[in-house]
Amino acid sequence: MTENLPQTHHAVTIDQPGGPDGLTWSEVPAPQPGPGQVLVRTAAAGLNFIETYQRSGVYDVDYPFTPGSEGSGTVVALGEGVEGVEVGDRVATAAGTGTYAEHFVAPAEQLLPVPEQMDLQQAAAVPLQGMTAHYLCRSTVEVGPDHTVLIHAGAGGVGLLLTQLCVSLGATVITTASTEAKRELSRQAGAAHVLEYEGFAEKVRELTDGQGVDVVYDGVGKDTFDASLESLRVRGTLVLFGGSSGQVPPFDLQRLNGAGALYVTRPSLAFYTRTAEETAWRAGELFEAIAAGTLDLRIGAQHPLAEAGRAHADLEERKTTGKVLLVP
Ligand code: NDP
Repeated sequence: MTENLPQTHHAVTIDQPGGPDGLTWSEVPAPQPGPGQVLVRTAAAGLNFIETYQRSGVYDVDYPFTPGSEGSGTVVALGEGVEGVEVGDRVATAAGTGTYAEHFVAPAEQLLPVPEQMDLQQAAAVPLQGMTAHYLCRSTVEVGPDHTVLIHAGAGGVGLLLTQLCVSLGATVITTASTEAKRELSRQAGAAHVLEYEGFAEKVRELTDGQGVDVVYDGVGKDTFDASLESLRVRGTLVLFGGSSGQVPPFDLQRLNGAGALYVTRPSLAFYTRTAEETAWRAGELFEAIAAGTLDLRIGAQHPLAEAGRAHADLEERKTTGKVLLVP
């Protein structure tokens, strides 16, 4: 440990499951880095849909709870046994604990060094949605030039990044989005066809000579799942990676047989960043693409952490595009 560690700091906390109003900003004891961890002074926290599931009780958490696993900032203290990281390093991570705060702890192994030319706050937009987009098209399915893929919520945080990555891999991308403004953003990200949700399975068939797409990336879940299955070609893959409209209820596996020997998978980032090497590979490719100008980070909004409730409400009411950042 190197600096005088803060004893208290300001953080967002939730005392019980509920709505966005339950997110409060107050002075609380500051976290201390444990073995293998570092303490980071927060430059920005990334807002992610999972925090709405944790806030509302869809996912179990222990209360009082400070949300946030994505953030960027400057390392201010090292826990026992940390090597290869120095106080003063500029870092970002998708594996922090309680990043909706002035400081957060994170495992040293899951820190991404932020390139010098990149603004530290902007760097908070990369780790979680960026590495998710990366694993979805590089590992869950290895997308290539022969593929046509359908991506739901094409103007969202994951959606905009995944669209650009799939296009750069040579795939033809079809997306959905709920408003004309969002559809225009999705086109700018490289989508060849941008659809409304209404009747999307039929439109996908028309656009693919009746065949269907090779892959559907579905983070919307409950409202889109059935029609996503109907949009696939024979032996196509449905990648269900979230449920912004609600969780998909249990379903009969025989449907996969009847619909053309389909595949369904339900991946999550933690299983695709299992080692420091894997995390570094994904982050390295993302930072390179950003530096080369082939991957555009769209920061759709930035709010003070003290107004995290407003940001949650906007995300749940479908008012956001791209990445939303929260700053101390
Ligand atoms: P987004 O920025 O994509 O926001 C969610 C979007 O979902 C909305 O903007 C909206 O776009 C769409 N949507 C459709 N129906 C609804 C609804 N009923 N309520 C709210 N939104 C709806 O969020 P993220 O990029 O942060 O996350 C996208 C998905 O990816 C989420 O489901 C999230 O949980 C998941 N995720 C999964 C990960 C994993 O590893 N499995 C990691 C990271 C995220 P529109 O208005 O165009 O419909």
